[in-house]
Amino acid sequence: MAKQEDKFKKVISHAKEYGYIFQSSEIYDGLSAVYDYAQNGVELKKNIRDYWWKAMVQMHENIVGIDAAILMHPTTWKASGHVDAFNDPLIDNKDSKKRYRADVLVEDFREKIVQKINKDVDKAKKRFGDDFNEEEFRSTNGNVIRRQKQIDEITVELTRVQEENDLEGFKQLILDLKINCPVSGSNNWTDVKQFNLMFGTQLGASAESSMKVYLRPETAQGIFVNFLNVQKTGRMKIPFGIAQTGKAFRNEIVARQFIFRMREFEQMEMQFFIKPGTQQDWFKHWKETRLKWHLSLGMGQDNYRFHDHDKLAHYADAATDIEFNFPFGFKELEGIHSRTDFDLKQHQEFSGKKLQYFDHEENASYTPYVLETSIGLDRMFLAVFSNALQEEELENNTTRTVLKLPAVLAPFKAAVLPLVKKDGLPEVARKILEDLKWDFNVFYDEKDAVGKRYRRQDAAGTPFCITVDHDTLEDNTVTIRHRDTMEQQRVKIEDLRGIIKKEVDVRTWLMKMKA
Ligand code: ATP
Repeated sequence: MAKQEDKFKKVISHAKEYGYIFQSSEIYDGLSAVYDYAQNGVELKKNIRDYWWKAMVQMHENIVGIDAAILMHPTTWKASGHVDAFNDPLIDNKDSKKRYRADVLVEDFREKIVQKINKDVDKAKKRFGDDFNEEEFRSTNGNVIRRQKQIDEITVELTRVQEENDLEGFKQLILDLKINCPVSGSNNWTDVKQFNLMFGTQLGASAESSMKVYLRPETAQGIFVNFLNVQKTGRMKIPFGIAQTGKAFRNEIVARQFIFRMREFEQMEMQFFIKPGTQQDWFKHWKETRLKWHLSLGMGQDNYRFHDHDKLAHYADAATDIEFNFPFGFKELEGIHSRTDFDLKQHQEFSGKKLQYFDHEENASYTPYVLETSIGLDRMFLAVFSNALQEEELENNTTRTVLKLPAVLAPFKAAVLPLVKKDGLPEVARKILEDLKWDFNVFYDEKDAVGKRYRRQDAAGTPFCITVDHDTLEDNTVTIRHRDTMEQQRVKIEDLRGIIKKEVDVRTWLMKMKA
């Protein structure tokens, strides 16, 4: 655990030191769970958004994008169920005065038991080597069986208290499991209460005409209310999708995990409208497709897992999370939900406007079902950034900090470095930069020894360094150094564009989804 916390602290400080993420309003001591993207962060974030947009919108003839407003008519949130049910159960510890999400307390407790099982499995794996049969071990080892039983019992009770909104039962579960406050160490808990996560504000200047509106807690509703507009003007035929990326706001109860849980964040969502009855097939399709998108970035298959929901939201008939192995363990990165016809029917009822689709093949009208994929851009940023940050032992007993960002996402694709700040080398370097600029985001650096500059670019995540030296003046060649391998090659200036393009091109990366 200490090691994990250490790694997470490093991620946070590296993000600041290298201009990726700053705390919001830092000079005023910050604002809890609100962050600003800095000069490099904004590029990485944009590249992640573009990578998603390319894969989800532009590569599909039947998916289009929109950009709906953050403020929506307040009835939207009545219809969607957010006014009445977008709550999280909160609980306070009376001694430490710390506030927690009751469900997260129980889930974290359960996860610790999962980790204990995994530890036992790993130990046994080492002991038995090639002969080890994991399935058999899990089904016969006494400790594992006992722990698994406890996990199952917790899951059943957690699902029950949530589904029945049994707040007393919720508190009892926490007491029965002897879950103590990590700060005070006591189990002196308040009752569990429901807390609505939406931020409200006033629209309009005068007291009589103003109305209460909300900052959207998800981007999805902007898609649903525009369903018919897009379908008609785009002459879309089912199955088709509408995607959007944009800000969402939630007054989260606990916000202590950097950009993992923010009060202002960005989502990338796609709602796929389908024929009722086909939702299971599409659920499977989008589960597979989304996992392939993640895997195309090469961040390690073992770092992902699906977590099917035990407790379904009021609108869903199937749901799964793609979880990622963050520095603090496996947590939700993306949700895939089969939302049935809940949203369109609700908006139809509350607006009095028909939101149906006429299917020419069937010669019938129906309310489409919806399959949703919803990923937090900031969580994806954290996944990419924390996975990329590595300390490497080098042969000469030194270490280097390197940010091995997937090249397609890196803020700068290359840095151009004149070996020295004289003899006409800066002029040649700038000429190379001016030319590469048309195709890539390129950095220029002439300060300090070249080795130091290499280290700086390694830590900033730049995939290539291009060094201009005295030989360049003679033969128009430069050294190109690869961030991950530190390998150096002598190449012609005219070949640089092709070499860089091959490594950073969206096509190269997204093609991996087809493999
Ligand atoms: P959690 O259980 O972690 O609160 P959720 O199930 O409420 O998340 P969804 O409503 O399914 O999340 O939202 C879809 C995605 O939006 C999530 O998978 C996550 O990546 C992102 N997301 C949700 N809440 C936040 C937040 N407060 N900060 C950053 N990203 C978020």
